[in-house]
Amino acid sequence: MIEYWNPLTERMPTEELNKLQEEKLKSIVRYVYQHSDFYRKRFDEAGIKPDDIKTLADVTKLPFTYKKDLRDTYPTGMFCVPNEQLVRFHVSSGTTGKPTVVGYTKNDVDEWATSLARAMTSIGIGRGDIIQISYGYGLFTGGLGLHYGAEEVGSTVLPTSSGNTEKQIELMQDLGTTAMACTPSYFLFMAEVARSMGVSIRDDTKLKIGIFGAEPWSQQMRARIEETTGIKAYDVFGTSELSGPLFTECTYQDGIHIWADQFLVEVVDPKTGESLPDGERGELVITTLAKEALPLIRYRIGDNTVLNREPCGCGRTHPRIMRILGRVDDMLIIRGINVFPGQIESVLMNIPEVGEHFQIIVDRINELDVMKIQIEMTDAAFSDKVKDIIKLEDKVASALHKVLNLAVKVELVEHGSLPRSMGKSKKVIDNRKL
Ligand SMILES: [Zn+2]
Repeated sequence: MIEYWNPLTERMPTEELNKLQEEKLKSIVRYVYQHSDFYRKRFDEAGIKPDDIKTLADVTKLPFTYKKDLRDTYPTGMFCVPNEQLVRFHVSSGTTGKPTVVGYTKNDVDEWATSLARAMTSIGIGRGDIIQISYGYGLFTGGLGLHYGAEEVGSTVLPTSSGNTEKQIELMQDLGTTAMACTPSYFLFMAEVARSMGVSIRDDTKLKIGIFGAEPWSQQMRARIEETTGIKAYDVFGTSELSGPLFTECTYQDGIHIWADQFLVEVVDPKTGESLPDGERGELVITTLAKEALPLIRYRIGDNTVLNREPCGCGRTHPRIMRILGRVDDMLIIRGINVFPGQIESVLMNIPEVGEHFQIIVDRINELDVMKIQIEMTDAAFSDKVKDIIKLEDKVASALHKVLNLAVKVELVEHGSLPRSMGKSKKVIDNRKL
């Protein structure tokens, strides 16, 4: 039987849902125009008045909002409420320039928890589950975000945060953790540490569900994780600017449901900003429909995805975004060819001799881009015969060439020799930017 957090809204007929979304869109546009100097100015410059938004389709008349806007108005220049109405701040670490600050009213925290409660229910987490949250707690939204969602559905939280891996595995066994939330790279590392302690995740723990995200991971990586540990691995999506982690796949594992009464999704051409029809790959754009402190209008997420409004097997009528291949920002351009690290991962995970850890190194040698991929072999595939290694390197290079249409230098390395990560892994080292 399929469980819903709120069946009335989650299974709402599409027409009714669209009508509700339209009303919420009109009201958020009026709200930001009234309460935010930033938006009023932005709309005035674009010659748009709130009354111009009459239907859902009119959303395309509204100007986009960018991460840069949050930085330019640092720290709270885009907020729609005075600071005394906030119950929390989160701050994202800026790799370049100023960080971005997100503020939450009590309602914003509740809406965030509701979004995750719906998501967690859709993957079978509820009362009786013990959920170990190994995302960082603190300014980063991963830990606290999932924490509130998990409490909302009545599960028991084990707030381990990241790090101290052996202790995490001990607690997982002793307290009977049934669900785990962390980055996929940290889970892989954890499984490795467990093995070295003589613990099998499959046989010696009660773990059955993984909520993995904060970095892109492929369908093939999912298959690897599920095969080796016996758990069901689900993708979670969100960004700190929208609140934090917000959405997951349902048990059908065929796209991530975006709650249409809380968020309006579009996919646009990343170059022209033109709306793309459903099913076409492009950049994800989200308008928040229920946020009070920091609503975002047509926010350019920078992730590359496909929108699917077909009904889902789970009965939920809310649209799905298909698994994220990578942020538009993560795309590498190698000799004029677009390459996503996710594409490389997909190819590698289809080759049984290749382990889960790899690193992409890009250099510019004599004015020419050169991409090298260091890959760990599985213990089983390890050979000390040079001939075998060269044969496998050729096999991997030709599989990559077929997909990327690009010559890649492949270097196989011993299992355990690449760096491991407790949070977001750094898969790409681009020396060209130095
Ligand atoms: Zn579904």
